[in-house]
Amino acid sequence: MSGSETRLQAIAAVTNYKPISAPLNFAETKPGEIFGSNVFCTKEMKKRLPKEIYRSVKATIDAGAKLDPSVADVVAAAMRDWAIEKGATHYAHVFFPLTGLTAEKHDCFLQPDGQGGAIAEFTGKALIQGEPDASSFPSGGIRATFEARGYTAWDVTSPAYILENPNGTTLCIPTAFVSWTGEALDKKTPVLRSMQALNTQAQRILRLFGHTDGSMVSATAGAEQEYFLIDRNFFFARPDLINAGRTLFGNKPPKGQEFEDHYFGAIPERVLAFMLETERELFKLGIPVKTRHNEVAPAQYEIAPTFESANVATDHQQLIMITLKRVAEKYGMACLLHEKPFAGINGSGKHLNYSLGNASLGNLLDPGDTPHANAQFLVFCAAIIRAVHKHAKLLRAVVATASNDHRLGANEAPPAIMSVFLGDQLTEIFEQIRNGEVKASKKKDFLHVGVDVLPPLPKDAGDRNRTSPFAFTGNRFEFRAVGSSQSTAGPLVALNTIVADSLDYVATRLEKEAKNDPKKLHAAVQAVIKDIITEHGKVVFNGDNYSEEWYKEADRRGLPNLRTTIEALPALVDKEVIEIFTRHKVLSKRELQSRYEIYLEQYVKSVMLEACLVLKLGKTQIFPAAIRYQNELAQTCTNLKLVGYTFDTNTLDKMTELVKELQDSLAALERILANHAHDKEAEAELACHEVLPAMLAVRKAADTLEGMVADDLWPLPTYQEMLFIK
Ligand code: ADP
Ligand code: MG
Repeated sequence: MSGSETRLQAIAAVTNYKPISAPLNFAETKPGEIFGSNVFCTKEMKKRLPKEIYRSVKATIDAGAKLDPSVADVVAAAMRDWAIEKGATHYAHVFFPLTGLTAEKHDCFLQPDGQGGAIAEFTGKALIQGEPDASSFPSGGIRATFEARGYTAWDVTSPAYILENPNGTTLCIPTAFVSWTGEALDKKTPVLRSMQALNTQAQRILRLFGHTDGSMVSATAGAEQEYFLIDRNFFFARPDLINAGRTLFGNKPPKGQEFEDHYFGAIPERVLAFMLETERELFKLGIPVKTRHNEVAPAQYEIAPTFESANVATDHQQLIMITLKRVAEKYGMACLLHEKPFAGINGSGKHLNYSLGNASLGNLLDPGDTPHANAQFLVFCAAIIRAVHKHAKLLRAVVATASNDHRLGANEAPPAIMSVFLGDQLTEIFEQIRNGEVKASKKKDFLHVGVDVLPPLPKDAGDRNRTSPFAFTGNRFEFRAVGSSQSTAGPLVALNTIVADSLDYVATRLEKEAKNDPKKLHAAVQAVIKDIITEHGKVVFNGDNYSEEWYKEADRRGLPNLRTTIEALPALVDKEVIEIFTRHKVLSKRELQSRYEIYLEQYVKSVMLEACLVLKLGKTQIFPAAIRYQNELAQTCTNLKLVGYTFDTNTLDKMTELVKELQDSLAALERILANHAHDKEAEAELACHEVLPAMLAVRKAADTLEGMVADDLWPLPTYQEMLFIK
């Protein structure tokens, strides 16, 4: 079968798509009843566990108390019974290695009973600790391959759940993954550590404001996931999508997103059916998905859950990505989570909404009704501004991937410059504090913390400033630079840690100035905020982040603009970053170093894989199609000459020129790939500055050819087909 036949058959198959035969019926299975039905939630624990045991587990979940190992056997037995009732035959420790994916190791409940039979066993030890072979996961030198031992440890704060398959179910236990020396090999461990650090520092602030109940402060997160859906027949006809997750060739379609007719448009029937089933699957897993809509680009959509504690939200985010992909298959589609599957068309992000709060006070970024509550709000808000300014490079580093580089700064996503949008009102409040005096006497036009009441701040319901990478939206911040395929763990760890560090700074000052005299608190708060805004107010920017002027202005303000992953990643091992991460016990120097190495290697691998695909597709699909057409033109020319006609050779000339351009650019790319760099950094430089431009040169020739070669010869499904034929 020739390349073009694959493409034409894909088109035929798409047009013959038949809707799924057994539709869901929400009148029969009510969403309220299925919500959490596959989760070993606290309600289920309460029902099944002796009171004492339940109380002990609950204290660990709610207040971060140390897990009492003696309760594990009892919990394990209850969990096993529950899972077996749900048809489970196996249990799996689910963990989150540094690949950013989800990994699971399944074990059967059945154990030989020594008499020729078998019994279902699941001990506390099996619940608490697993031992997967760690040698196949990236560790960045933390663990040599001969030291294969790695442990998974039950994360009590993230509930166990049942994973369904048509042929059976599996009990899944979210776990942290560490080396035998106790170093984090995963994304969850640092999330948990950073949550602890954040709580410790936030408590110090709350105590100063008179809240002494110690109710645990958690970071809260709600991530808006953008994604593309295309028909699976097209997906399978595009080796670049299968292997790299994005198209490496493709002419811009005649119709793109310029009509602005997709955003919030009516959802196509097949897509809506897919969304309903995805949501039902997520409901069963206790994931509170709330919002669905079309996104800006054709074939682009969004799903957003209600926020949860950051650790649980991160695990749920991983499950959302897996479920989107799985359910899409069922509806004959492929879900693309890549940040930029189609050049020239908007890419996908994962807006990470972030706040902090606890059970007794609620959301700490909600401005209160009293001057005292406002003062507390301003402290948390100022601490975050300081954190973003001081650690802008780190925030850029945690969203740095080869795929997100295509998105950041492309005037559809925030630029690589980290700035904070506060909105006019809040900006003015901070300005007044900066310009005002420290003592609490009321003076016109100056706001005095703890004396004045803040004017009501507008809630940013829509995306009032879609261009800002870090926007205050009324009661939370929205980190918009996160990529759609990323785990939210990295960004959350960074945020928690830098915010913890800022709270530490503020608390230390306030404790010194006001600890023994609460009357001094508000003046001390006023002074701290004044200092923070004076020093870090530069990071606040309410204008258009896409504009040329902002790039210049940001440069004047000294804000870093790290355009590529290779410029961004070194921040992970910056001296100051290592200092705060070790001081707050989130990641050791070695753990940070290992992450830097792994992410740099991932960058190189992604770019090199794409380059190989460009070579392969260029040589074996596009070049043959081009010369076939060139030959047809030449044949026509010769044949016409024989019968005395002249043929305008314009098209043939242009084709010949382009074929040469394609050949030359492929050869150039091949030459570059033959270079060997001496270390990872040099390899990354090569990938970024030589391989990527060489790939683009091939693409330029190929995409122009796409616009010339006879359609019936063209091998790859086109943008127009993938995005518009549904
Ligand atoms: P928008 O389109 O305005 O950004 P969405 O409704 O799409 O709003 O998404 C808002 C997201 O913010 C949701 O995931 C929501 O749960 C989350 N969110 C709301 N409050 C908080 C909070 N206190 N902490 C973290 N996330 C929050
Ligand atoms: Mg949104």
